[in-house]
Amino acid sequence: MRYLILSDVHANWEALQAVLAHAREAYDSILCCGDIVGYGGDPDLVAEWTRENADHIVRGNHDKACAGLEDLESFNPVARVSAIWTQQRMKPDNLSYLRDLKKGPEEICGFEIVHGSPVDEDEYLFTEEEVSQAAPYLETDVTFFGHTHVQGAFLCHRNGIKRLRRVDLGAEDMVVELERDANYMVNPGSVGQPRDSDPRAAYALYDSQTRLITFVRTAYDIRTAQKKIIDAGLPDVLALRLASGV
Ligand code: ZN
Repeated sequence: MRYLILSDVHANWEALQAVLAHAREAYDSILCCGDIVGYGGDPDLVAEWTRENADHIVRGNHDKACAGLEDLESFNPVARVSAIWTQQRMKPDNLSYLRDLKKGPEEICGFEIVHGSPVDEDEYLFTEEEVSQAAPYLETDVTFFGHTHVQGAFLCHRNGIKRLRRVDLGAEDMVVELERDANYMVNPGSVGQPRDSDPRAAYALYDSQTRLITFVRTAYDIRTAQKKIIDAGLPDVLALRLASGV
């Protein structure tokens, strides 16, 4: 089975469309590690597309916040403004879709998807040290996660944790062949708001037969996505960060 793994789309319709056009026929099933809304200008479009097309999805902290399930006190002011705007703007049936999204982990044919970490859906896994704390809780060989908006993987071996990431930011796709006696924490990167210094939309493909994971970036129409954020009256910084990718 070939999976398209998406995470942190954040209501960015232009980035999502570019990813789908780029990935074309390279997958059989679509998985999503959460945060489909928040920050971007098209929450309804992205939620409706996800409802129709994602085969498996777990909720993210922004999905919870926009659905009214999370106290906005823990959000920074910009995230809070965008969560309130999203909540007020979304159609009721899309909000109830958000409210009903499942908390991870969700197991799918021998691997898992989570938003933050296998232990805590809101936990950030940026470093080897943070992954080493979560590694004992991994139930499957491969766990896909999001939340940090940083594309790459961690190889969890008995000898320790090794971070796998693209060294050259402008480089082509990175392909990782999964070793048998290791666990992997894999972040496909953020479709709609990358924060790893590469503003291109990020996604991953996983072929469970060949055990290959491909990390992909594709350019998209950032200007249109920015204009929608500005026109909505959302904080400028949300538009600006799309161009810098941080
Ligand atoms: Zn996010």
